[in-house]
Amino acid sequence: MARYTGSVCRLCRRENQKLFLKGDRCMTEKCAFERRGYPPGQHGQGRIKFSEYGLQLREKQKIKRMYGLGESQFRGLFEKASTMKGITGNHLLSMLERRLDNVVYRSGFANSRADARQLVRHGHFTVNGKRVNIPSYQIDKGDLLEVKESSRSTVRIASALENVKRREIPQWVELEANSFRSRVRDLPARDDITAPMQERMVVELYSK
Ligand code: SF4
Repeated sequence: MARYTGSVCRLCRRENQKLFLKGDRCMTEKCAFERRGYPPGQHGQGRIKFSEYGLQLREKQKIKRMYGLGESQFRGLFEKASTMKGITGNHLLSMLERRLDNVVYRSGFANSRADARQLVRHGHFTVNGKRVNIPSYQIDKGDLLEVKESSRSTVRIASALENVKRREIPQWVELEANSFRSRVRDLPARDDITAPMQERMVVELYSK
């Protein structure tokens, strides 16, 4: 899958919102969005008027980029969500939140989702005692996520845990930082996702 390799701060500026893609730096005054909170490019500071389609497209791109997914992966999740009973947008966000890389990030074991994805791929975590190295793995209620014993001195994990006090750990995750583990108390509900997202627009876009 082709992955975006350019400046991630550019993505925040494009979506006109902080997407928190760079870990610690996002909380500092070095954040590019804080310094230049307008879209990149020659016409970035001009007035941009979006059509309805344009707004829906931007919202989809924003959510996709926030979770670091490619188009086909994101579309695949949407297709799955649309076959479920209930509100498609809520199912879509819930599945995004339940990805293993996101739960690693939310638990405080990584400073960003990109970092979390790499740590998962490198096999630093177990779920219910079994090593899982698939970032898209869907976590379930009651699952126990642990940093492997041999990985507990990994610098990136240790530094993320040091920063954990400055981060907001969602209620549906119970972190035991001293034991390098976290428990999924409950499945994430829509109200647990506080970042501004209008998933309804994604549903409208894909339903055209
Ligand atoms: Fe976005 Fe973080 Fe870069 Fe700021 S520092 S623009 S929040 S990725």
